Amino acid sequence: MSSNGPAANNEGGVGTSRSTIVGPLNFTKDSTTTDPPTSLVNERTVPCMFCSNTYDFHSADNGSDQCLAHLYLVHRLVVADVKEIACLPSYCYYWKEKFSSEPVEKYCSSMLLNQLPDGTSSANEKYYLLSDIEPLDYELRQRLRREKLELVLTRHQFERTDRNFQRDCLYCRDFRSETRPEFISHLYRKHFLLLGKPEHLVFVDELIEIVQDKLNRLMCLFCEKLFKDRPTLKEHMRKKGHKRINPDNRCYDRFFLVNYRLKQKPEYVPIAKRKEESRVFASDTDSNSDWSDWNGEEQTTTCLFCAHTETNIVTLKQHMLAVHTFDFDQTVAGLSFYQRVKVVNYIRRQMHIRKCIACGEQCSELERLVEHLNREGHYRLDGEECAWDQPEYFFPTYEDDQFLCHLEEVDIERDDTVQEEGSVVISESVTASINLDAESLSLENFKL
Ligand SMILES: [Zn+2]
Ligand SMILES: [Zn+2]
Ligand SMILES: [Zn+2]
Ligand SMILES: [Zn+2]
Ligand SMILES: [Zn+2]
Repeated sequence: MSSNGPAANNEGGVGTSRSTIVGPLNFTKDSTTTDPPTSLVNERTVPCMFCSNTYDFHSADNGSDQCLAHLYLVHRLVVADVKEIACLPSYCYYWKEKFSSEPVEKYCSSMLLNQLPDGTSSANEKYYLLSDIEPLDYELRQRLRREKLELVLTRHQFERTDRNFQRDCLYCRDFRSETRPEFISHLYRKHFLLLGKPEHLVFVDELIEIVQDKLNRLMCLFCEKLFKDRPTLKEHMRKKGHKRINPDNRCYDRFFLVNYRLKQKPEYVPIAKRKEESRVFASDTDSNSDWSDWNGEEQTTTCLFCAHTETNIVTLKQHMLAVHTFDFDQTVAGLSFYQRVKVVNYIRRQMHIRKCIACGEQCSELERLVEHLNREGHYRLDGEECAWDQPEYFFPTYEDDQFLCHLEEVDIERDDTVQEEGSVVISESVTASINLDAESLSLENFKL
C-alpha cells in the first residue's frame, strides 16, 4: 500500500482541520480485511465547495451530477473537464478548504453573461470556471491521478499473486482456480472466451461478476443482443466470434490497467496558454494564417475544422459546407445565442484535443481526426447526447475567437416554441438576451 493510500480513519471527516490538504481517495474499503480495495466506488458524502449542502456520490440518482448542477445554479461555478478528474470527492474537499479562506476569484477564471443560471436574462452576471489553468488545480488533478494509479497498481499486484481466489468456471463445473490469472487463462484456453490478458486486467472479481451477470441474462458479451435461451446464445457467440467483451462499452474501461496511465501532457490546455495555441490550425506552409495582425481592421475568423480563414463569415460558412459538409446555420437553427456560443466553444475544444465532435473518439493527432471525421461522416453534432450543452462551454476555448462575434448574424427566424432538450443543468430561456456583444466574451472581460 502506498503512503498516499486511503486513510480509512477519515470517513465522514468534512472538517478543515485535516492535515493533508487532499482528502483521501474514496475506494471502498472493507475494514475486516487487509486486502487492497476491490473497487473504485466511493461511498462518501461530499460537501458543496461553498455551502453546507452535501451529496451522496454513490446514490442511484447520481449525487455527483446534482452537486455539479448545484455549483452552477447556486454558486455560478463550473468545473472544467470534470470527467477527467481521478477522484472528484477529493477534488471537492480540496477546493472547499481553499474557498473557505480565500475568494473564488483568486483561483477561477470569470466571465460575464447576460443571463441568470436559469436562463432568465439579466445583465452582466458573473460566472466562474475552475480549471487546470490554475497551477494548484493542475497540481491537484495530477496528484489525484497519480495516487489513483498507485492504488490500482497495488491492487493489480495483489490480484496477480493472491491464492485465495475461489471461483467456479463460468462454463464447466469441475474447474476451480486458485488465482485470477489462472481463471482468466482457463476461460480463454478452454472456452475461447477472451476477457483480456491477465497481466492487463485489474478488479478482476468485479469484471467476472459483470460478465457472469450478462451471460445469465442471456446477453451476448460483444454485441449485447439478448437471446431466448442459453444454447442459442452460445451458438451465436461461437459462430459470430463474439466470445469477447464489447470494446466500445466504456463500462469495461476501469478493468484495463492502460486506462489509468498518467497523461504526459494535460489534455486540457490552460486558457492562459491558448493565445499561442490559437495557431494550432495554422500550418507552416500557410502564409495567410499570420495572426500577428490580429488586432488590425481586417479581423479574420478561422474555420472550425481547419486553418482556413476568412474575413467574411458568410464565405467562411460556405467553406465549411463545401469542404467539411458542415452546415453551421442548420446546426444551430433553433438554438439560442448562448447555445450557439456553447456549440462553437465545444467544437473548438474537441478539435483542439483531437476528439471527434460526434462520437468523441480520441485521435492521436489532427490528421487522424480529420481522416476519422471524413471517413465516418462525423462533421456533425450528435443529436441526442448534447455533449456540447454543458456550462463549461460558455467559456471560450480560444481567447480571441472571432467566430463568437458572428453568432447573432445567424439568428434566423427564431422559433419561440423551441424547447431545449437533454440538459438537466440549465434551462436556457429562448427569451434570453441575444444582444450580448462580443465584448463580454473577449479578453477584457475574461479575467485570469
Ligand atoms: Zn452550495
Ligand atoms: Zn471452464
Ligand atoms: Zn453477439
Ligand atoms: Zn475548414
Ligand atoms: Zn466520430
